[in-house]
Amino acid sequence: MLFRSIGEGARALFNARLRSQAVPCSCGSQVSECPFWKDIIREIDSETEKFGREKIRIPYLPLLMGPIKPRTFQNQFQQFLSKTEELYKLVAKNAGCKVIVDSSKNPPHAFMLSQIPGMDLYVVHLVRDPRGVISSWSKPKKYLKRLSVKRVILNLLSFNFLSELLRRYAKGYLLIRYEDLVHNPPETLKKIANFVNEDAKDLDFLEKTRARIGVQHLLASNPDKYTQGWISIEEQTWNLSRQKHLLVSLMTFPLLYRYRYPFSKTFFYEN
Ligand SMILES: [Zn+2]
Repeated sequence: MLFRSIGEGARALFNARLRSQAVPCSCGSQVSECPFWKDIIREIDSETEKFGREKIRIPYLPLLMGPIKPRTFQNQFQQFLSKTEELYKLVAKNAGCKVIVDSSKNPPHAFMLSQIPGMDLYVVHLVRDPRGVISSWSKPKKYLKRLSVKRVILNLLSFNFLSELLRRYAKGYLLIRYEDLVHNPPETLKKIANFVNEDAKDLDFLEKTRARIGVQHLLASNPDKYTQGWISIEEQTWNLSRQKHLLVSLMTFPLLYRYRYPFSKTFFYEN
């Protein structure tokens, strides 16, 4: 297998709560009992977990990215990177894959992976119309709590800005719009495979409007990860009140402009 998705690996590997009973692996097992993960997570010592949980966060990015770090912090960061490299190499070996697909969204995790000398980081920056994101986060889903409009807007502005900053650190950077992905999934996957200099082989699980999902071992992620078999792929509709639509559109205007979303609710596609 060339590609292997691990869900939000970097986010969950260093956060015991995300590997706890509350968020089982997508295979249905507890992460500590999952046949894929149980031996891998035993390799994570408490110091590595603590550094990952406390320091690989947005408030520490200036220090992580900056040229000068206190010596103790620099040593801890280097040890953390070595341990993380070992973990990802173990994942690749156990999965028998060449490309690990890690869908952690937090830019500090991607930056951290870019600093590992033995790995090449390719960033696929997936964006969605901010009004659709707001609508999606307004409803709780199993272990995912609803988020306030203010929280989502702050996340959208900071995560998208920092994701673009990753161009400077990653081996490659590719921008994909969610609306284009769901409009033509096979074409988008081929584009992503070419981006990492690989051919998109074995796409027989994927059609234009549906995909066949087998057993996977995804960490954290959306609760939809537990769905198996044929799933339909379609754009999720969203509907905001007129007032909220105007307010959110004004506050996220830089993103609407940057990613070519119309101010009014009309979609258009690239293809
Ligand atoms: Zn599993």
